[in-house]
Formats: sequence, structure tokens, C-alpha cells
Amino acid sequence: MKKKIFIPILIFSVLLLCSIGFFGFQYLNLNGRCQTLETQASQLQQNNSELSSKLTHSNEELEEKEAYLEGQKEYISELSQQIDSISQEQDSEDSNGSDTEEDNDYEDNSTDPYPNLYADSEDEQAENEEKIAYLTFDDGPSSLTPKVLDLLDQYNAKATFFVVCKNNEEYAEYLPEIVKRGHALALHSYSHNYSQIYASQDAFLSDLEKVFDWVVEHTGYTPSLLRFPGGSNNGSSYVVNDIIDELERRGFQYFDWNVSSGDGSSLTTRANIIDNICNNIGNVENPVVLMHDGSGKNATLAALPTVLENLSSAGYEFRSLDKNVPPVHYR
Ligand SMILES: [Zn+2]
Repeated sequence: MKKKIFIPILIFSVLLLCSIGFFGFQYLNLNGRCQTLETQASQLQQNNSELSSKLTHSNEELEEKEAYLEGQKEYISELSQQIDSISQEQDSEDSNGSDTEEDNDYEDNSTDPYPNLYADSEDEQAENEEKIAYLTFDDGPSSLTPKVLDLLDQYNAKATFFVVCKNNEEYAEYLPEIVKRGHALALHSYSHNYSQIYASQDAFLSDLEKVFDWVVEHTGYTPSLLRFPGGSNNGSSYVVNDIIDELERRGFQYFDWNVSSGDGSSLTTRANIIDNICNNIGNVENPVVLMHDGSGKNATLAALPTVLENLSSAGYEFRSLDKNVPPVHYR
């Protein structure tokens, strides 16, 4: 009887032990796998954060390179304008040259029976005319702007500031100062990002509205002048012509330039800036001089006293742009 009971109990016990052993093994096995998975997950997280930081770093580098390229594009655009105005000037000098030769023939005629019968020559007329220079500063305001304003005051010079909002927000206090001191406060763009603003008419207007609102908010002054980043020959002709039509419909006047200081490039020195302006300003009528008062344009600030001094000595008066000034347009 005991034997009959003992055998099932034994079998049951064996089965129970086997089950405990089996499930115990499975539990340990699963536990081990979980730990492995946790280790792998934490490794993946670590890899992920390393990749994220590398990506952020690469993005920053990319943005820096894009900003540098934009600066270089603007500089190249400025240089090509300079070359255009020099060649136009050369053409006009060539045509004037032939007139002068004719004049010389008359002057050589010592038997002129009417020696006093001469009208004012063009040169004499030009000498009697006012010499006006329109100095313009793009890409500010920045920490340099108040120093530029003080220098302009010293020479009783009025100028035009084409402002950019993005990355200059902290210098908004200089916007009312520009207006208060009698200069023209004009728009350049919100972002100064060529690929964004020249993507479409709508993209340009949406960007311009932001810098327009910024100026109005801080000054109560409604700007009516603007300068295209890189000049009006930047971006696709089709898009920019559309933009110009719409800006004119909205009452804005845009200005390019006919004298470049060359300070768009960080390689341009104080001496280069003085030479670029002082040697070329006499070649054009109504000179509109491109300079920059954005961050880092220390060479421009260093050149400005000499530029103001030299041009004042040459008889120039410095005025700000307005809608009545003959526009300088590349298109
Ligand atoms: Zn600019």
C-alpha cells in the first residue's frame, strides 16, 4: 500500500523538480537577455547622443561656411558692379576725349575774331554744381553703429542705413538714434539669406515685412527705401523683376550703388577702403557709396574719418538718400 502511494508521489516530485528547474533556467536565461538588451540600449543611446552632437557641430560648421559664402558672393557682386561702372566711365571718357580734341582746335585758333564769345564749358558748369555724396551703410545696426554716427556728426554728414534684423536684435536701440540724428533709415532684409529671400516674390515680401515691422516698432518711422542684399542683380532675374514691380506698387524705392568701398570682403583693409572710395567717387554722378556697419567691419570704421576728411576737402557734401534722389539701379 505504502509502495503504491510512494511511486506517484515520487513521480510527482520528480516532475515538480523538473518543472522548477526548467522554469528557473528560462527565468535566468530571460534575465540574462534583458540585461544584455539593457546594455545594448544604453550603448545605442550613447551612440545616438554622440551622433547628435556631431550633427550639431557639423550643422554649425555648415552655417558658418554658408555665411562666409554669402559674404564672398556679395563681395563678388560688388566687384562686378565696380568693374561695370569703371568700364562705363571709360566709355564716357573716350567719347569726351574726342570733344576735347575739337575744343583744343578752337583754342589754338589765335585769330578768333570773337574771343569772348564762349559759353560755359561743361567742366566749368560741373565745378559750379554742388558735389553731393550719398554714403550708405548696410547690414547694421551693430556695436559699430554709434561710432559711425558720432563720426558722421563730426562732419555734419548725413547718410543712409540699410538695416538687417536677424542677429542684430540686441542693437535695436540704435534704430531711433539713426532717425534722431537726421539720417535715412532704410531696409535691407530680415534674414539676408539669398537662397531664402530670392526663392519667390512671396518669400521676399514675407522676409521684408519682418524687418519693416521691426523698424516701425522701435522708431515709429515708416521706411520707404530699400537695398537688395547683394544688389538688384542678385537672384533670378525673373523673380527679382517680379519683386521690383510689387515693391514699386507698394511705394518703395530701391537703391543699388555706383561706388563700392569693397568692405564686403574681410580681406579688404582700411587703406583699400579709402582708395576704393576716394579714387572712384569722382568718376560718377550722384555717387552712392556702399559701405557696411555690420559686426566685424572694423576696417570700415577705421577708414571712415579719412574718407570723410578727404571728400570734405574735395568739396563733397554728404546727404542721405530719399525718393527724389536719382536712383542707381542695375536693372
Ligand atoms: Zn548686405
